[in-house]
Amino acid sequence: MSKFLRERYRKLESYVPGEQPKDRTFVKLNTNESPYPPGTAVLDAVSRQETAALRLYPDPECGALKDSLAKLYGVKRANVFVANGSDDILNFAFMAFAGGRTKAMFPEISYGFYPVFARLHGVEFEAVPLQEDFSLNPEDYVCKNSLIVIANPNAPTGKALDLCEIEKIVRTNRDNVVLIDEAYVDFGAQSCVELIHKYDNLLVVQTFSKSRSMAGARLGFAFSSEGIISDLEKLKFSTNPYSINRLTMAAGIAAVEENDYYMENCRKIMDTREYTAAGLRQMGFAVVPSSANFLFVRSRIMSGEELQTKLREKGYLVRRFSNEKIADYNRVTIGTREDMEGFLQAVSEIMEER
Ligand SMILES: *Cc1c(COP(=O)(O)O)cnc(C)c1O
Repeated sequence: MSKFLRERYRKLESYVPGEQPKDRTFVKLNTNESPYPPGTAVLDAVSRQETAALRLYPDPECGALKDSLAKLYGVKRANVFVANGSDDILNFAFMAFAGGRTKAMFPEISYGFYPVFARLHGVEFEAVPLQEDFSLNPEDYVCKNSLIVIANPNAPTGKALDLCEIEKIVRTNRDNVVLIDEAYVDFGAQSCVELIHKYDNLLVVQTFSKSRSMAGARLGFAFSSEGIISDLEKLKFSTNPYSINRLTMAAGIAAVEENDYYMENCRKIMDTREYTAAGLRQMGFAVVPSSANFLFVRSRIMSGEELQTKLREKGYLVRRFSNEKIADYNRVTIGTREDMEGFLQAVSEIMEER
């Protein structure tokens, strides 16, 4: 740290992303990326012609991309926001909809970026404990007068709320924004996008990073009332109106055109998830029922750290978190069927060697 850094940022602890190793090849089951590549429409869209056009700025309105998302989700262009990854949208939301007397609230065990954004923007927050089985009690979020941020399905547990439970939270907080982070919704949970027509305080955030195989492109999108979208646009145009580059824009539009390909991949991943969960349970693991592209698992005889280390030695990367309540869990991203057959084999060897 230099002596120049502004006082308010000196104690900031930034988000620590999952490892992206360069030294050897691992089977990466640690950052919830898709094991499948983008589809052919995306590969064709990122063309020589589009690359040559990089001399020009991209469309700051992102009109074509917004229109294609609006059509797919049955909303108007004015209800759509797009930005450089959904992290970018979460950042704007904390900047825009909390602070001063408005606190933020989110589950204690959830996406690790939420407290980072809150601290970055000097937003006071309450981290609400989950129940014993990691389920979220909607009653904890009723009538709170705070910016409420809920990942549905939640990360890293994979547990989801149903539409009625989400609606209750949105309906009882009409004077503040309720942000539902649907990064994993395509893997089997119920989306609440339709509720934006009924409630002007709901902001639904999604991403191309997980179910649409484009973590490297950095593209997030959100649906909300026209008012909330215009607030987000105001902040985007006060920071970086060109945050979505031309290649990513072309890739995003193409991905929406071949939506069925990605939804089919999601079905495969859900099948592989259930196969993996069954295999782990057979070996005595506690496995949290998941509606996402990962499993949250605990060995009954080995610490979370030991399992993670031994898996690494066998070439499998999984993710573990520092919160002591979940230190004995590992989050395992679902790869291809072959990846997970190998993973189960590695786990079984680790158990036998012990
Ligand atoms: C991965 C993830 C994100 C971030 O997605 P990007 O679009 O890649 O920035 C947001 N929220 C949750 C809960 C995630 O797991």
